[in-house]
Amino acid sequence: MQSVQENGNGDGSEDTERDQGIGEGSKGVGMLLGKEMKMDNGHRAEASNGNLKQDVIIIGAGFGGLSCAIRLATAGLRVTILERQAHVGGKLQQIQQDGYHFDRGPSTITMPDAFRSVFDQAGVVMENYVQLYELEPRTRNVFADGTVVDLSRNRGWMKEQIAVYSPEDALRYDAFMDESAALYAEANRHFLGKLLLNPSDKYNLQMLRSLLRVRPTVRLDKLLRRYFSHPHTLAMFGRYATYVGSSPYLSPSIFAMMGHVEAEVGIYGVKGGTYQLIEGMTRLAQEKGVRILTGVEVHQIVTRHGKVIGVDTDRGFMEAEQVVANGDVLSVNRLLLAPEHRKRMSDARIAKYEPSISGFVTLAGVRRKYDQLLHHTVFFPEQYKLEFDDIFRDRRMPSDPTIYICYSGYSEAGMAPEGASNLFILVNAPYLSQAWNWEEQKYRYGEFVLEQLEARGIGGLMQSEVLICYTPQHIERDTLAHQGSIYGISSNSVKQTFMRPGNQSKDVQGLWYVGGTTHPGGGTPIVTLSGQLVGERLATELGR
Ligand SMILES: Cc1cc2nc3c(=O)[nH]c(=O)nc-3n(C[C@H](O)[C@H](O)[C@H](O)COP(=O)(O)OP(=O)(O)OC[C@H]3O[C@@H](n4cnc5c(N)ncnc54)[C@H](O)[C@@H]3O)c2cc1C
Repeated sequence: MQSVQENGNGDGSEDTERDQGIGEGSKGVGMLLGKEMKMDNGHRAEASNGNLKQDVIIIGAGFGGLSCAIRLATAGLRVTILERQAHVGGKLQQIQQDGYHFDRGPSTITMPDAFRSVFDQAGVVMENYVQLYELEPRTRNVFADGTVVDLSRNRGWMKEQIAVYSPEDALRYDAFMDESAALYAEANRHFLGKLLLNPSDKYNLQMLRSLLRVRPTVRLDKLLRRYFSHPHTLAMFGRYATYVGSSPYLSPSIFAMMGHVEAEVGIYGVKGGTYQLIEGMTRLAQEKGVRILTGVEVHQIVTRHGKVIGVDTDRGFMEAEQVVANGDVLSVNRLLLAPEHRKRMSDARIAKYEPSISGFVTLAGVRRKYDQLLHHTVFFPEQYKLEFDDIFRDRRMPSDPTIYICYSGYSEAGMAPEGASNLFILVNAPYLSQAWNWEEQKYRYGEFVLEQLEARGIGGLMQSEVLICYTPQHIERDTLAHQGSIYGISSNSVKQTFMRPGNQSKDVQGLWYVGGTTHPGGGTPIVTLSGQLVGERLATELGR
């Protein structure tokens, strides 16, 4: 058996610089000479001589940071992105080994317009940078009793498949999809496309009406039970809560909108792998003049009289008018600002937020083909609810997990050697806590997942040519995600769903947030929107 490899830098890379913007720029960071400045933190640093002062420094090159940078640079602003990892992409990284191609991180791409608008606003054609293709059927759902439902835009076929195990649920499918479409329209109108910076943005009559229309206090599972009664249908649509790192039994019913998003708007593959979205956005950012430095960690957001003046990095001080943090808001505050400079985001307040779920990932490159897999396949457990009790109540790995497999080789040749498969296997995991010890459990749990798949007909994975696993500790280590969460904070309450930490710091003037922890929320299209919204606002504030 090929032993499970625990990942170091799974991409085999060493920290390098991706400074295609200005050849000598990053070296210049350490040489920023000029007058000495006194900062709020009592720390003395060299201020730049002015030549390299940036309008905006962005901390992190995830979807949020890149989309924000493109918007700002399109408006003519000087922008630098500082990324501590060796490569851009944040939680999405590309792993290539022995002819196998994997995307580590997001794989289910929805809401393509969120990505398209990044390119549109920059005045270029997205297809010249990255190509998406629609998947039909969207996702295969395999239940413990062997029932299969392939999620499709074809409503007639959906009803036929559901009717096999529940004629009653099939009859209610159209009504559910109508409600799902209405929820999506409401979310689009009032939550997804707007920054909620001031109390007047949040607490106005229109917002209140909209909030009431999406019935915030009704939980997703409860809404689903108005339409469906069979455990298969409830699990299939309840799973949408996990798209924002949450539980269907706790999160608000607004996430039922994903039924419409997936079936009607579509799920998309990305030609060459999901990482091509990052590659395309990175190329566009650089064409717009954004300087991107990888392998550069920000250690402190430097302030003066309560206002941002730059950042302190492992290469020295960099001066900026404004700073946008793409890293997790809670980690950014905890690690980059001294407690006396973040009274509204104290350690006690940070501890009150519930992080989202994390993930246990296995990448398997195996000389076998699996006819039962589509591009996306989900294997559901016998009792769906127990998984969320394990994760959120007991904070341990599920004893009978839902297992998701992305097999991009299904759609595209070249992702694996001839006759072989590239499988990205994901199991939901609790955020990091004392309750689960990954050091002790990782190999045992990794093998358990492969055994579970063997029992569901996906055999031979123990003999994989490539076998790499990533625990929530790796996610925390690589991206500084708070407690290893993958969607920022959970959406397990009305407050954490609709009143996330805002996109502008309440403590430090000139500090902005984009990404999963902040508004509008987690998941690749939504964080891409957050970057664009903040970019738009900042460009206006800076007079562009
Ligand atoms: C296993 C997994 C599966 C997922 N599946 C899906 C999916 O199918 N569909 C979907 O839509 N979403 C999915 N997601 C979630 C999705 O990946 C995230 O919502 C999204 O990528 C987050 O982007 P972001 O811009 O918020 O920031 P991130 O991707 O978290 O990037 C932030 C960046 O900031 C950098 N950074 C932080 N602090 C510093 C510092 N001090 N100095 C320098 N750099 C710093 C980090 O290194 C990181 O690169 C998944 C995530 C994971 C991990």
